[in-house]
Amino acid sequence: MIKDALDAVVKVLTAEKDYLSDLDAKVGDGDHGINMARGADAAIEAFEDLDDTEDLKKVLTAIGEAVVMNVGGTAGPLYGTAILEAAKVIDENSSPDILTLEKVFGAAVAGVQKRGHAQKGDKTMLDVLIPIHECFKPENTIGKSVEEVMIEARDAGRDGVEYTKTIPARRGRASYLGERSIGFEDPGAVSSLMICRTLFGYWKEILNK
Ligand code: ADP
Ligand code: MG
Repeated sequence: MIKDALDAVVKVLTAEKDYLSDLDAKVGDGDHGINMARGADAAIEAFEDLDDTEDLKKVLTAIGEAVVMNVGGTAGPLYGTAILEAAKVIDENSSPDILTLEKVFGAAVAGVQKRGHAQKGDKTMLDVLIPIHECFKPENTIGKSVEEVMIEARDAGRDGVEYTKTIPARRGRASYLGERSIGFEDPGAVSSLMICRTLFGYWKEILNK
């Protein structure tokens, strides 16, 4: 199951490599797709080197380290940190429920913020990751089925991408464009949505097991 989820994320990022780089060409240096595809390759290699591929904490730790070490650009170390921080909150007692997702996304978001010092509204991947995390908070899930929460999280991510079109970049290379970055999606927000949407599909399968 972990391998299926990883393969699915790698497939999406590889397929969308040119699309992500094209988005980055409009606001940055046009390498976001290349960076994400390199991260995907590094993740697969790290996974294949593992003896125990069923232990989610070990898998995420290995992938996070590989992404931090092998992926250039700003996004690589940020995604790597997010994965490493997510790994820290998982243990053998973690159950595949929304509460665990809340912890995992909370840790990932905190890791990105600690490393990159960005906030919501700066036109970064956080404009997708923070709203998705919000959907998993206990106060926002009362009376909702897991499926409903997942759909809300996906929609919040989509809205986050749309929101990045309306604001100027305040972090990363796109911030050099200032107001001229308005009208364009943030490439890291788009890749975050791609990754999260893909993972949600697998989380549902795990839950339905
Ligand atoms: P680089 O900007 O070094 O070329 P990438 O193109 O791979 O790296 O990644 C760009 C993406 O990184 C942006 O679209 C944005 O989402 C994300 N990003 C940049 N700076 C930050 C930051 N400080 N915090 C969070 N995300 C950031
Ligand atoms: Mg770039």
